[in-house]
Amino acid sequence: MAPHADETNGSSSPAALDFTTFSNVINGKLSSTKETRHGFNPATGKPNPEVPVSTPEDVDRAVEAAQKAFKPWSKVSYEDRRKAVLAFADALEKEKEGFAKMLVQEQGKPYGFAMFEMDFAATMIRTAASLDLPTEEIVDEADRKIRVRYTPLGVTVGIVPWNYPVLLCVSKVAPCLVTGNTLIIKPSPFTPYSGLKIVELAQRFFPPGVIQALSGNDSLGPWLTAHPGPAKISFTGSTATGKKVMESASKTLKRVTLELGGNDPAIVTEDVDVEEVAQKIATLAFLNSGQICLALKRIYVHEKIFDQFRDAVVRHTKTLKVGAGNEEGVFLGPIQNSMQYERVKGFFGDIEKENWNVVVGGKNPDGPGYFINPTIIDRPADDSRIVAEEPFGPIVPLLSFKTDEEAITRANNTIYGLGASVWCRDLDRATELAEQIESGSVWVNTHFELDVRAPFGGHKQSGIGVEFGLAGLKSYCNSQTLYLKK
Ligand code: NAD
Repeated sequence: MAPHADETNGSSSPAALDFTTFSNVINGKLSSTKETRHGFNPATGKPNPEVPVSTPEDVDRAVEAAQKAFKPWSKVSYEDRRKAVLAFADALEKEKEGFAKMLVQEQGKPYGFAMFEMDFAATMIRTAASLDLPTEEIVDEADRKIRVRYTPLGVTVGIVPWNYPVLLCVSKVAPCLVTGNTLIIKPSPFTPYSGLKIVELAQRFFPPGVIQALSGNDSLGPWLTAHPGPAKISFTGSTATGKKVMESASKTLKRVTLELGGNDPAIVTEDVDVEEVAQKIATLAFLNSGQICLALKRIYVHEKIFDQFRDAVVRHTKTLKVGAGNEEGVFLGPIQNSMQYERVKGFFGDIEKENWNVVVGGKNPDGPGYFINPTIIDRPADDSRIVAEEPFGPIVPLLSFKTDEEAITRANNTIYGLGASVWCRDLDRATELAEQIESGSVWVNTHFELDVRAPFGGHKQSGIGVEFGLAGLKSYCNSQTLYLKK
């Protein structure tokens, strides 16, 4: 099957993507809107190109096209859908420099990390496409069989946040399409550019209506979740918005997968190599300027090594350069948007009010650009905002503990349950600690090292359902039990 003209197989190579103009993609065609808007380059404050502002009519058109495309796409064999998804991954990889530059311009992250996002995106697609979802034989007796098969749901809406505009878009594309669903991507209004181009590129590999993209203002998400057409919403974003999505989806009992906020703790025991672990923890707290659901947001260090660890983590944090994503050697780019910048600065406002001991950072450069220096607060109160909330920026509390039991109790004292890590030389003790943490992923002696073969999701208010792994594929399917009697 050639699901749609794969131009890469033709004699002439397809034109490289043009990253200067941006359109919706509806029913296989680029589609503009009367009204447009734009995001901003967070390093300079300058406007980025115009993007569409979709209307309810655009939503209707896209849902209708997705519904029409669903039947034939669901009948294409799993193997052929897989081939199309893999060809798309190859094309995305070929265009990775263009996408990485766009990521720097729209999201602010350093170019090297943008390239990492592109490489991981290709791996993510390929891994999701490599998994099989066979029919399960539950009972195989002489006179009867019971089988469970997995059938696609229909039209899915993929809602994407602004911190990883490529990765968190393709994390939905591959499992959704390989299982035979159709997809409408809604990128964040703050970072709409890469998402629209991903879907434009995908048109070379999928029939019209199988994957579409709509950009818009704050009304677009609620229109999509309330629309009676889609069967599922795959949402990545904040816990507050996740609750609204679930409420809206409940009206027609749409399936939801909610990948939401986190307040990840790290527990560092007294037997670690302080220098090595402090360096890793500084990196994992300030990566992407702290704008990661899985960034380390609370660091619990055993009191026996606390002072030594604090000095080491401060030393490493001082080596992390802040600047525009296209500058050499930058580790922390700007905060992505003005709203988030003001929110993060709100935590700096608490420094004086709460009399916090700032061991590194604490002061921020004046604009232009939403730059914030990596900042560590030494032992703020457990009920202070910096410990209880998700700042989603480069400001982190360092806390001390006496016993393992106390560390676990305090690590679990949160509404969130996304990720956590235990840093400990003794693997038995580390595993025992890890098993007591209430979160969807727990790492030992590392953090944020995702493997797409394993499910990923949140406990408590960090989400519902999982992405990745076999369970992630199943989340795009109905389960159907067949009772076959002779
Ligand atoms: P957000 O919730 O503000 O927005 C996410 C997306 O939802 C955007 O596309 C937005 O336009 C859309 N949206 C907003 N209101 C909506 C509504 N009422 N109905 C439907 N859609 C709506 O989140 P954000 O600020 O873009 O992202 C940061 C948050 O995302 C953080 O809390 C972070 O922890 C979380 N996050 C979670 C994961 C994960 O995998 N668990 C990954 C990345 C980010």
